[in-house]
Amino acid sequence: MGRVLIAAPRGYCAGVERAIITVKEALRRFGPPVYVRKQIVHNTFVVDDLTERGAIFVDELGEVPDGSLVIFSAHGVSPAVKDEAGRRGLRTIDATCPLVTKVHKEAVRMAEEGYEIVLIGHAEHEEVEGTLGEAPGRIHVVDPARPEEVTASGSGRVSWLSQTTLAVDETMRAVAELRERFPGLADPPSDDSCYASQNRQEAVTLIAPRCELVIVVGSANSSNSQRLVEVALNAGASAAHLVDRAAHADEEWLRGVETVGVSSGASVPEVLVAELLAWLAARGYADVEPVTLTEETLTFSLPPEIRPTRNPG
Ligand code: SF4
Repeated sequence: MGRVLIAAPRGYCAGVERAIITVKEALRRFGPPVYVRKQIVHNTFVVDDLTERGAIFVDELGEVPDGSLVIFSAHGVSPAVKDEAGRRGLRTIDATCPLVTKVHKEAVRMAEEGYEIVLIGHAEHEEVEGTLGEAPGRIHVVDPARPEEVTASGSGRVSWLSQTTLAVDETMRAVAELRERFPGLADPPSDDSCYASQNRQEAVTLIAPRCELVIVVGSANSSNSQRLVEVALNAGASAAHLVDRAAHADEEWLRGVETVGVSSGASVPEVLVAELLAWLAARGYADVEPVTLTEETLTFSLPPEIRPTRNPG
């Protein structure tokens, strides 16, 4: 019989909790429909659940009728999107994770100080699109795996920022390569890789060397979930796969496997991990050992529009 090592922390981070509560609370207070620009967090189950409750997910503000309430997702938006909402007179609630907002503010400050900014991240990701919009023309996006493709001229001062959910090791390798190209490369005041991404990656690093197989629960468009698969492989797992639901796992993966590692991305509800554990138990992997890196206690206050009001009496 096989066993399971389950990594902690896993699943919801403080930014995702806040974003999901924001949509639920907006629906409760203002009633449906509540529009949400882009997926509130990158998880299919969460988006389907909120859709059933009355949320309407759209790709662009053009799909939101005049006078409606629209929520911006945890990944953040560029100032141009906020301006458009303002021009249209839409009511907005910003569920951008405060740790993404921190990167936006760094981009604005660096641009004001005259830096050319290299943003290490995935160009197609919404978070990168949003940060890019803070200083159009001054930010050059470069993929963490291909820092040699950087397009910054280096004619003046150059600094770097990164997407919050990257693999820490890969980011630092990219920074080292960028520094060879731009010796005076200025660092951000603090690491942009968020606490949740770092903790989930380190927890997977603890279990992966003891596992022939690691299964990460998460959606294919979830950056931090994809990184967990890469980190598991780099840390010594013989195989690693990303699954949206247990039903997408393949029994073939279990052939010859004694120990299965399990984790989940920052946008994944625990019910989906429980589903995977049940799937594994039904196939002889019922012995589950938790491996805990640290306990997380961080929470973020809700956006002001839905913050609970204190009774003055
Ligand atoms: S993964 Fe990090 S940056 Fe993204 S929502 Fe969670 S805490 Fe915020």
